[in-house]
Amino acid sequence: MKPYTYRMGTLRYFPLFMDLQDQPVLVIGAGKVAERKIRLLHKAGAAVKVVASTLNAKVEDWRHVGDIEWIGNRYQQAQLDGVHLVFAASNNTELNLSVHADAEARGIPVNVVDDRRHCRFITPAMVDRSPLQIAISSAGTSPVMARRIRAWIERLLPMGIGKIATAAGKIRYRTATLLPLEQHRNFWDSLLSRGRILQWSNLSQTAIEDNIREALSKQQKHDALNNPIPGKVFLVGAGPGRPDLLTIRALQVLGQADVILHDKLVSGEILDMARRDADFIDVGKRAGTRQQSQQQINRLLAQQAQLGKQVVRLKGGDAFIFGRGGEELEYLQSYGIEFEVVPGISAAIGCAAYAGIPLTHRDHAQTLSFVTGQVSNDNQTPDWHQLAGTGRTAVVYMGVKQAVKIRRQLLTAGLDGTLPVALVANGTRPNQQVLHGTINELPTLARKLPTGAPGLFVIGEVTTLGKKLAWFESEPKIIRVAA
Ligand code: SAH
Repeated sequence: MKPYTYRMGTLRYFPLFMDLQDQPVLVIGAGKVAERKIRLLHKAGAAVKVVASTLNAKVEDWRHVGDIEWIGNRYQQAQLDGVHLVFAASNNTELNLSVHADAEARGIPVNVVDDRRHCRFITPAMVDRSPLQIAISSAGTSPVMARRIRAWIERLLPMGIGKIATAAGKIRYRTATLLPLEQHRNFWDSLLSRGRILQWSNLSQTAIEDNIREALSKQQKHDALNNPIPGKVFLVGAGPGRPDLLTIRALQVLGQADVILHDKLVSGEILDMARRDADFIDVGKRAGTRQQSQQQINRLLAQQAQLGKQVVRLKGGDAFIFGRGGEELEYLQSYGIEFEVVPGISAAIGCAAYAGIPLTHRDHAQTLSFVTGQVSNDNQTPDWHQLAGTGRTAVVYMGVKQAVKIRRQLLTAGLDGTLPVALVANGTRPNQQVLHGTINELPTLARKLPTGAPGLFVIGEVTTLGKKLAWFESEPKIIRVAA
C-alpha cells in the first residue's frame, strides 16, 4: 500500500472527473457514512446498488422511491459484476477489507471510506457551482486544510457563477461555427473577464445569454470586443470592525476589486481580505492628516469607474446609515455610472449584539431610533422627547464627544436624568468597552472612554439588560502597576 506521505514533484493522485450517469456503483453499508456517499453518487446520476443488513431511515426513503436498489443483505463477490466503482462503507472493518481485496483483484476502483490506505481513488472536497465544479485534495496530508481552502473558495465565488458557465455552454457551439478558430478563443477570453463574471453572476440565465449573443453579433460585425466592460462601483458596508462580521457578498466583491476606496473606520484586518493587487486608497486619513472632501471622493469614484474598473467604496458599518452612501450614489447616477449596494452591519446593531443589549424588547421598548449626535446648528437638535424615554430606545452615533451638550438637550426635553444609558467604544472589536450609567452621568462616562476610538451610546431601559446578557469577553485589560 502507498504511504500517506507525499514526495515533492510527484502527483500522489491523478485528478479526473468521472461521468457516472446511469453507471452501476456498489455501496456496502447503509448507515450515516454510506448515506453521504450515496447522496453524492445519486446527485451524479449513478445507478446505486446497496448491500447492507439494514438501511437507515434516509437510505430506506431513497429505496422506497426507487432512487437506489437494495440488492442484498449480505456481501457476495458476484455483486461486483459489472460495477464501475465500489464504496465499502460498512461498520465492519473485516468486511470492508475483503470487499477491497476482491475489487482490487478484479480491477474495479474501490474506496474504503475513511481508510485512505485502502482507497484506489479518493473523493475530494468540492465547491459546487454546477456545471462548474472545483475539487480540492491534500492527498490525505491534511483534510482540515483542504476543507479550509474549500471554504475560502466557496466564499470567493459568487453563487450565480454556474449560470454563466451554463449560458456559455449553450452558445459555444454557435460561436465556434460562426467565428474563425483563433477569433473564437479570443472572443471568450475577452468576454469572460473577472469583472464581467462578477457582474453577470447577478443576472438571470436568459439575461446572461442575451448579453453573450449581443457580444457575438458585435464581434461578427468586426466591432471588436476591445470595448471594455463599463466600470462599476460597489458601495460596501464593512460592518463595525470584526472581519468575520463582513457579509459573504462583501467578501466576494472585495476579492474581485480593482480599486478600493476606504474610510478610516475600516480596519486593516478587513483590508487584508481584499484582492492583494487591488489599489487601496485611504480617503479618510486619520486625525492630523488631511482628509479628502466629499466632493473629491465623489469625483475619484466616478473617474475610476469611468476607466472601466471595478471600484469598491468601503465604509464602516452600513453605507446608508450616517455613511453618506446616498450622496455618493446620487453623484454616480448623475454620470450614468452603474452601482451595487452591499449592506453592512451598522455600529448600532453590532455594538448592541456584542454588549448584550436587545434594542427592542416586548417589555421595554417598542420603537427604536438611530440618531446622530453631530448636528451642524442648534435648529437641528433632535426631538429627544419623541426619540427617547419610556418604551423607546435611541442609539446615538457620533455623540460621545458631544455628551455634555446632549445631556443638556435630553434634560431640556423633559427626560428623566435617571434613565439608563450604555456607552460602547470599539464595539465588536477585541478592545470593546461598555459602560453603564444614567443620562445624568453621560459626560462623566464619556470621559472614561479612550479618546479617538469609535463610540456610541444607547439611551433606554433596554440597556440594563446588557448587564445581565453581556456575553462577549473583550481582551483582558493590561494592568499597569505604578512604579
Ligand atoms: N455608517 C456607519 C456609521 C458611520 S458614523 C455605521 O453604519 O455604523 C461613525 C460613528 O459610528 C462613530 O462616531 C460611532 O458613533 C459609530 N461607530 C462606528 N463603529 C463603531 C464601533 N466599532 N463601536 C462603536 N461605535 C462605532
